[in-house]
Amino acid sequence: MEIRTFPSKYLEKAVNQFAKLPGVGYKTAFRFVLHMLKQDEAFIKEFTASINDLQENIIFCNVCNNFSDSPICSVCSKADRHNGQICVVESFKEVMAIENTGQFKGLYHVLGGVISPVDGIGPSELNINSLITRIENEDINEIILAISPTMEGETTMLFLYRKLSKFNLNITTLSKGVAIGDQLEYADEITLGQSILNRTKLKVDF
Ligand SMILES: [Zn+2]
Repeated sequence: MEIRTFPSKYLEKAVNQFAKLPGVGYKTAFRFVLHMLKQDEAFIKEFTASINDLQENIIFCNVCNNFSDSPICSVCSKADRHNGQICVVESFKEVMAIENTGQFKGLYHVLGGVISPVDGIGPSELNINSLITRIENEDINEIILAISPTMEGETTMLFLYRKLSKFNLNITTLSKGVAIGDQLEYADEITLGQSILNRTKLKVDF
């Protein structure tokens, strides 16, 4: 291993911290640190405060489990979003992608992942019980399963379908505009928007 000597232990520490980020190699980490060294105090304060805020101020919405700055998120707190529809997604990234299309006017429920036995993620690791509690207590008539059609995603949809079929609900899924294997978050806005508008009844044939 290459021996790297730094003129300052603070420099070394900062480089090592940046190098922990995904996709950031040692060289890039060094470039980041050199850039930081040239910035004024206000920049550094704002930069470090925004990192601190990630940990200290972001919480999960008590209702839908999306990231939020308050106990009830900005979607759940709007009265006009309570239209009887809940769109079930894997993570906040899909909420962002769907919100960007401007085509969905209902509520969300963030599962926090998909069922993946290889990764040790079973149904009890996901926010499924809280979804059922919502269906029991809110006036819900449609559940849209907006989950990527990967093997794990389809397993999750099948599990949810079985859990939810006892309720008097329409269970729908996105139309196949989003190609198999595509992650929802990478689908372009128009395609994703259309697949929300043209959603179809979930057919359990997998
Ligand atoms: Zn919420």
